[in-house]
Amino acid sequence: MAELVHVDSPNVRYTDQFIESNYCYQMSRVTLEKGAYKVTPSSISFTFRTQRAVPKLGVMLVGWGGNNGTTVTAAVLANQLGLSWRTKNGMQHANYFGSIFQASTVCLGTGPNADVYVPFRDLLPMVHPNNIVFDGWDISSLNLAAAMERAQVLDWALQEQLRPHMEKLQPRASIYIPEFIAANQEERADNVLKGSMAQQVDQVRQDIRDFKQQSGVDKVIVLWTANTECFCDVIQGVNDTAQNLLKSIKVGTGVSPSTLFAVASILEGCAYINGSPQNTFVPGLVELAIQHGVFIGGDDFKSGQTKIKSVLVDFLVSAGLKPTSIVSYNHLGNNDGMNLSAPQQFRSKEISKSNVVDDMVQSNTVLYGPDEKPDHTVVIKYVQNVKDSKRAMDEYISEIMMGGSNTIVMHNTCEDSLLASPIILDLVILTELCQRITFKTESETEFQTFHSVLSILSYLCKAPLVPEGTPVVNALFRQRACIENIMRACLGLPPQNHMLLEHKMQ
Ligand code: NAD
Repeated sequence: MAELVHVDSPNVRYTDQFIESNYCYQMSRVTLEKGAYKVTPSSISFTFRTQRAVPKLGVMLVGWGGNNGTTVTAAVLANQLGLSWRTKNGMQHANYFGSIFQASTVCLGTGPNADVYVPFRDLLPMVHPNNIVFDGWDISSLNLAAAMERAQVLDWALQEQLRPHMEKLQPRASIYIPEFIAANQEERADNVLKGSMAQQVDQVRQDIRDFKQQSGVDKVIVLWTANTECFCDVIQGVNDTAQNLLKSIKVGTGVSPSTLFAVASILEGCAYINGSPQNTFVPGLVELAIQHGVFIGGDDFKSGQTKIKSVLVDFLVSAGLKPTSIVSYNHLGNNDGMNLSAPQQFRSKEISKSNVVDDMVQSNTVLYGPDEKPDHTVVIKYVQNVKDSKRAMDEYISEIMMGGSNTIVMHNTCEDSLLASPIILDLVILTELCQRITFKTESETEFQTFHSVLSILSYLCKAPLVPEGTPVVNALFRQRACIENIMRACLGLPPQNHMLLEHKMQ
């Protein structure tokens, strides 16, 4: 088991099974005393333990026959098979652009001549996407080849090469409760489970077990990339506790399909990730995940407009400029867009997109008063003609020095599913890695895992789910630094500090 990166330090031990590191975590506690801030540095010694053996990973997608589901499956197959295809611009080779692990790098330190960078995927032992086995469910019965054609995302020359492989893949029948997604989806719902709610959950659990057994994978992660559902009311006695949620499933009312899939996954011990904006993770579900020690993560892939927003607003606010209005228009013509043209489903997306600058705004009390926020409006329209090639237009107005104003306008065009697919891969690969990391402080005897609510996934999510009472971070580079620095801690390496002091001395 030879990793590309090997740390030579008394704080790091390599055994056949583990990479074990001693790591000093430094914090600063702040109190307000007599009108002045008192800052007290402190530190905790951690031991991190990362299992070196990488399992064979199975990923089950809910909404497998959709644009994201077919595109991510096709992309992995094309990479596995090393496919190339001719386009009007020349030969194109399969790749994983857009995945932080597969296509971005991290700096390890200084080499003899310059800084040394390695692919992010080589920092710790991780699943390679080419080795992921896919399966899943869809309310539409089209096989994956026909569904890929329906999606109109990939070049035809590539689809032709993939067809013999994709047509063997058949989505399993799914849980369909019409009131949760737009009425315009009814036409494609020809592959749905029958029976009581409890029986359907049991069938999904059976599907997970069958897939695991038939494919020979070591573990399964389930990810929701099906249509956006309307928000579900959080009701006392229905979904407020784990017990009530399980009771409601028995009664057969008040639980959305995405929550039912989450329950089934948790009961099978499989991590569950929500790539859509709805509130799948009602309080009872979070409690169930904690009780079973299973990871949950979400919500809503952070793919395009929001990703830029969480960089641009971070830049503006940290540069001391004051965004006063942010207006985002989107139009898209894929099935996701059609579903979002219904008011209740749009509302889920609007909520998910609307809080993404809160942490940045709240961090700057020089610019903003206690309840002050930029005016923030999000519009989404369905325009069939643009298909999966989503348009996002944003206008940012900021107040600059002496009452001046600065307007930035941005126009973004690209295939939505080609942005979401690498994010799906990063989500499952990072979740799987976290399942192999345990840690303890000096005073603890037992190693523990991360909290069931896996907030390290925030970089990949528009509305990050975090453990109750903990801060939500939306700023993109802080989110990326969190992943990188935790992985460095697993290797006994200090966080990236960008000080470059060695180059600043006489
Ligand atoms: P899509 O409409 O092409 O695919 C969704 C699939 O889910 C469809 O095939 C549909 O038949 C299926 N489906 C609906 N309800 C189901 C159920 N109960 N069980 C199983 N299958 C079900 O949409 P998409 O473009 O693939 O996007 C999927 C989701 O990801 C949407 O909710 C979207 O808002 C979200 N999302 C996408 C992006 C992106 O960049 N593409 C970004 C953020 C979030």
